[in-house]
Amino acid sequence: MSEENNLLASVSDVSMESEFFSPVPKGYKKGKTKYVFVLGTVMSGLGKGIFSSCLAKLMQDKGLKVTPIKLEGYLNIDSGTLNPFRHGEVFVLDDGMECDMDLGTYERMLDINLSRANFATSGQIFSSILNKERQGDYLGRDVQMIPHVTGEVKLKLRQLAMETEADIVFVEIGGTVGDLENAYYIEAMRELAYEEGPQSCCFVALTYILEPKTLGEQKSKAAQLGIKQLMQLGVQPDIIACRASNPVTEKVRQKISVYSNVPVERVVSVQDSASIYKIPAMLRERGLDHEVLRLLGLQDRINLRHERKEWARWCDFTDRIDSLKYDVTIGITGKYITVRDSYASIINALEHAGISLSGKVDIKWIDTTDVTDGNVKDHLEGVDGIIVPGGFGTRGAEGKIACIKYARENDLPYLGICYGFQMAVIEFARNVCDLKNANSSEIVPDCAEAVIDILPEQKKIEGLGGNMRLGGRDIEVKQKTKAWELFGRKDAVRMRFRHRYEVDPKYIDTLEKNRMVFSGKAPDYPIMQILELPEHSYFMATQAHPCLTSRPLNPQPMFVGLVAAALRRRSESS
Ligand code: GLN
Repeated sequence: MSEENNLLASVSDVSMESEFFSPVPKGYKKGKTKYVFVLGTVMSGLGKGIFSSCLAKLMQDKGLKVTPIKLEGYLNIDSGTLNPFRHGEVFVLDDGMECDMDLGTYERMLDINLSRANFATSGQIFSSILNKERQGDYLGRDVQMIPHVTGEVKLKLRQLAMETEADIVFVEIGGTVGDLENAYYIEAMRELAYEEGPQSCCFVALTYILEPKTLGEQKSKAAQLGIKQLMQLGVQPDIIACRASNPVTEKVRQKISVYSNVPVERVVSVQDSASIYKIPAMLRERGLDHEVLRLLGLQDRINLRHERKEWARWCDFTDRIDSLKYDVTIGITGKYITVRDSYASIINALEHAGISLSGKVDIKWIDTTDVTDGNVKDHLEGVDGIIVPGGFGTRGAEGKIACIKYARENDLPYLGICYGFQMAVIEFARNVCDLKNANSSEIVPDCAEAVIDILPEQKKIEGLGGNMRLGGRDIEVKQKTKAWELFGRKDAVRMRFRHRYEVDPKYIDTLEKNRMVFSGKAPDYPIMQILELPEHSYFMATQAHPCLTSRPLNPQPMFVGLVAAALRRRSESS
């Protein structure tokens, strides 16, 4: 029997005779944690994660402890191998989990750090079941989608509830109702609601209201059909959130209400918003927070004073969005320039930094495939600063190096992120330290001057032949550097990493002699983590991904530094 099974309270209900199989962790108290399920109908891409995180924020403001979980239908164990072109950026949690970008939305909106317990895929669920099957946990039973697979899902949710001691777990189910791959998740939700009893669960269906240009009016049929499909699975929604480009009319809401047994005050319009940070206010105006409290019987647990304080703080922030005084343009070089989701965290971090400085940050995307020293000036026309973001492989690398050279030589503010840090080292090695063949062994595997390399030390440290170095790591910050000032003179900061290559320590001396300063290092190994050029107005780069930890009310300092430098440059030139 597996170790996990020993930790279960009621798995002993399983027998050849009983059809019940609902593993519950030992010590689990029914009623302590409530569940809000957020499902999508009609189509994907409705912003379930945004909606769910905004609703969770309203509950958190009331002093309730909330935690989200995203359930993905795909069979990958994590998002590490997913192409950002198809799925948006790979978000990395502090514990090293590579997950869906929605977890980033939750972290930002709720200002909390999540862990691998907040993310599940079908791959994880099935691999856990198959392991248990091999260990004989199912006591001679045939292992079935119901009750075993659904049981595993319920177990995961209850474990999360117990571990976090949450008042509410927000469960977001990836994909759309009707997808074969998430059907068993929905069935598990239905079972969980039945087992937990009245006032324990709340189902929210996100749907889409079409407004064809040719008709000029909103049509609810697709929404009705989508909700019907959910009801056919035995789930009665409690709240229907209607996504639409424009506010949803009373007539359409009434129609949906009639077809879905949901009172019209719980059929709400969630129309497009210029900023996702304004959505909590929209949901609050519709009274959704109080509806959820009532549905879950949580009125007694809330703290009104806490809510008043938190809400005031939040409104101060959102008010600033409407009164941005300056404009600044940041160029981002990137391979995935057609898919903005690939750079979601960077876009968010720039927005946070901008708002904190009352500036609106416009982004200019720069495809570097054709950029050379000869034409770089034209490509960077109109930008007040540039970012070379994370990346893999070789495409566009020389163009990125040309951009960095231009930034360095022309005092254009620069922020390099991970790959952008490595490219900055290569550029400096070639053009300042005279190491003409400097490169990364990711780009030229047999490179003679591989200033960026997979190091034998790292292979040893990380095991398994140079696996990705993943997750949160402490960084020692050198005193009296720009980084140290930016981080409020803290000697240590923590950032998240996702890389395989790094600066080869044998070149550090040369780089430093030529006045590149490594202002952030790993405490235990010679891994360079932040660099800066003291003579430049703002030339900084980090091997980490600082964008992953930027929060609306707590913008990441390296981004604030970049936007501030870009604003200075813009005001000096005008
Ligand atoms: N490809 C580089 C590495 O593996 C950079 C990775 C990244 O930018 N996330 O080290």
